[in-house]
Formats: sequence, C-alpha cells, structure tokens
Amino acid sequence: MMSDMHCCQVCRNLSLAEVEQYKQVTRVTSDCKPFDKGGRLAVCMACGAVQKPTDDIWQAEVDKIYKQYTPYYSSGGKEQFVFDPILGTPSSRSSIILNRLMESLTVRATGSVLDIGSGNGALLSAFSSIRPQWVLHGHDLSDINITALESIPGFQKLYTCPLPEIPGSYDIVTLIHSLEHFVSPLENLRAIKHLIKPDGLLLIQVPNAEATPFDLLVADHVTHFTLHHLMRLLYDTGYGLEVVANNWVTKELTVVARPQPEPVISLPEAPAPEDVLRRVTAQINWLNSIVKDAENVSRETDQFGLFGTSIAATWLYGQLGDLVKFFVDEDPSCIGRAIDCKTIYAPSKVPSAAVVYVMLIPHVAQAVAARLSGFNIDLRLPPEIQH
Ligand SMILES: [Zn+2]
Repeated sequence: MMSDMHCCQVCRNLSLAEVEQYKQVTRVTSDCKPFDKGGRLAVCMACGAVQKPTDDIWQAEVDKIYKQYTPYYSSGGKEQFVFDPILGTPSSRSSIILNRLMESLTVRATGSVLDIGSGNGALLSAFSSIRPQWVLHGHDLSDINITALESIPGFQKLYTCPLPEIPGSYDIVTLIHSLEHFVSPLENLRAIKHLIKPDGLLLIQVPNAEATPFDLLVADHVTHFTLHHLMRLLYDTGYGLEVVANNWVTKELTVVARPQPEPVISLPEAPAPEDVLRRVTAQINWLNSIVKDAENVSRETDQFGLFGTSIAATWLYGQLGDLVKFFVDEDPSCIGRAIDCKTIYAPSKVPSAAVVYVMLIPHVAQAVAARLSGFNIDLRLPPEIQH
C-alpha cells in the first residue's frame, strides 16, 4: 500500500511504501519499556530512507511515551555502560563519544556547548568532566530533569522552547540519540545551523539501522538512519562533514559536521529502495524468528534468563513474559536491580542449571559469549540474520 499522507523525512518525496508486516510487530520505547504492536513502518521509494509515517496515531503514542519518559530506566537513571569498541573496556557512551571527539579534533579549553535532547544530563555531565571550563546548556521537551541538570558543574540553562527561539550561538551543538526522534529533521537541522558559531561544530550520533534490527522496534524513533541518509540530510541543510564514523560506538553512526556557506554536493550513492525493503523484511523476519527460538530454549529449563537489560532484551521480555525468570548484565549500575521483580544478576551470580539467551545482534552476542566464557553459563546465541 502506498501512503500519500506523508512525505519522506529525508528527501520530501511523497512515495512512502508501507511495510505491512510491521503492524504485527510488538514494539518497545526508547527508554526500554515494552510497547504494543500496531505501528507503521515505511520505506521511501525515492531515496530508500526507512521511517515511521508520523500520523495522528503515532503522534498520540509518542506524546504518551514522552510524558512517562524515564531515561536509563533499567539502571535507575544512570547512563548505561557500553563496551568501547577500540579499547575493549566498559565506559559510559557519552564519555566514549567525547573522548573520540577530543582525539579527532582540537577542542579548546573554554567554550559553550548546547546539548539538544539533554535528558537527565548524561552528555553534559561527561562534557563537564572532560572540559571543566566550558559553559553547558541543554534543550529538551520539558524541564522535568532540571534538578539533575543543575547539579552538573558549569551548567547554565535549560531551554524548552522551539529550537529557532533559543538565543545565542554555541561552539558545539550536540544531538546524541535525538535526531532519530525528530519529525522534520530537515527543518530542525536548518534551525540548528543558526545556533552554531561560524567555526563551531555539530556532533550527531544516531543508531545505525543497517547494523541493528532492534532500531526498527523503537516506537518513538522516526527515521531509521543509514550513513547515506544522515549525510544527505546534512548536505541538504548546508553542513560539511569533518568526521564520519561507524566505530566510535558499536551499532551507532557518529558524524561531526560544520555549517558551510555553500551547499556541499559530493553525496555518496543512495541505496536502491528495493534493496532497503529486502533488508528491512529480513530484519523483521529475524526478529520474529528470535521470539520462537528463545521460546524453544525456555522450555529446556525452569531457570530461563535473558542477557541484557536495554532495548533488545526488554523487547524480547515483552514477548516472553513470565517465561523469563531473571536478567543478566555486566553493567554495575544495573546489577542487583530488578525489572518487574525479576533480578538483574552479575554473570558470576547466574543460578546454576540456568539457560541464558543472549539477546543481541549475532556478532555482538558472540563477543559477549567470548567474554563470559570463564563463568560456565549455558549461553544461547541468536541465529544469523538471513539477508
Ligand atoms: Zn526519501
């Protein structure tokens, strides 16, 4: 079915093709809470961008999600740890991103930063530790996190107004896991250009939708980015790229851009929309196969657990319910807590005779299995994605 109601978030064409299977897929929110099925997913047949049609039902759903939003829900508000893909050590995502930024470009000892989608201040807090003399500003939909933000050294002001109404200009503007939530990213990136000083930088990180099928499940993510579509948005809104990386954080795309007076035209080739549709279909089929696979494994034991507490594991838990008896995580801020009264164990505390399903994309699951090989846990890994 072709949708003529919505234009593409990336290229503005009115040629969105709906992915019918998606309506049957149970979703999850970006703050890791299970969410009902019934959403819509589409592929632009002009540019290949994967996206949610932002109709009235979707708008009502996200209003509800944002009203109850709890950043870093499973870790009690603390930013979750990720494994630094270069150093192989656990660290907060924000500090990994900022350390890579400082290694890649010269960032002065003093300056001002505006973090759009500042949440409870994970990025600003890491920024304050690395560049203590900078003045920090945030922007978000509400001031619900103002107490947490005001406790960060160097924090100056939180804006909740529309982006074009933010006064002043900044040395660095950051959009860390924000741009994928935006309706009309083109207009917003144009507005953000006016908030960046002429020699300033824009730092963006979004999920890499080619690398992880789980991004499709997030009900409040509008655009499911590939590098091509992220670059296209930036070129079309007048930015040049300083850094393009898919390895600062695993499964995430990171770009550092600078406002340009003239449009930049050297855009890489767009993916064929038919290929994108095939990829998305394969990703949805894989997600459905995981539910069956994990259900089968759960029948082998009365001590069935899931490895992980973020998007992927929460989503699978939403499908399996009480078949799941516990969770396992390596992140110290999650260990000992519980999800629906189901304990989050450290790998060393997994009950004997338990079977643990590693709910991650296959190559990341394999890395986890290698890391945990000393713990003697019966780990089960997901099948490969069949493209
Ligand atoms: Zn498009």
